[in-house]
Amino acid sequence: MKSEKKPTRADVEAAFKTIIRWSGDDPTRDGLKETPARLARAYEEYFRGYDEDPEAILKKTFEEIEGYDEMIVLRGIRFESHCEHHMAPIIGHAWVAYIPRGRVVGISKLARVVNAYAKRLQIQEKMTAQIANTIQQVLEPEGVAVVLKAEHQCMTTRGVHKPGTDLVTSRMLGVFRDNPITRQEFLAIVTEDQKSR
Ligand code: ZN
Repeated sequence: MKSEKKPTRADVEAAFKTIIRWSGDDPTRDGLKETPARLARAYEEYFRGYDEDPEAILKKTFEEIEGYDEMIVLRGIRFESHCEHHMAPIIGHAWVAYIPRGRVVGISKLARVVNAYAKRLQIQEKMTAQIANTIQQVLEPEGVAVVLKAEHQCMTTRGVHKPGTDLVTSRMLGVFRDNPITRQEFLAIVTEDQKSR
């Protein structure tokens, strides 16, 4: 998937200089002189998820949980991603739930998994599935539920220009898919939480 040779920082800065010139401005003028370098650093941050291993993040688990077997929900995890079609920001929140089978993971790890997938070129549908599938595969819980709700700037600030619209995606695995009561319980928690945001 990755090309053989990773471009250097200098290559990337040169590319941004070209984009500025092509946009109609002068990359050598004072206000823009440092912009290609700043952009390169910003892009490193936007796409640092490629250097993270979401499965490794979930590897450390805790088993002393006194038989806890109810739903665990991390609500409203803010994330920033970029759509792979326009490289425009996707900004939203994630709700992640699972029902443990004998072991749990540190709750911050769920947020880190969301981030590891968000900081890549994405489409929201795929990201939703990746988060749920990874938690299911590594933790092997009774089930996993993920809801993502986000605004896509490729749609709100360009193209059809529809600010205020957001996209909701979800993926339910295991008991969340098979048991309507479990699913409803989770969705009620999400809905209640969304009202307060
Ligand atoms: Zn887009």
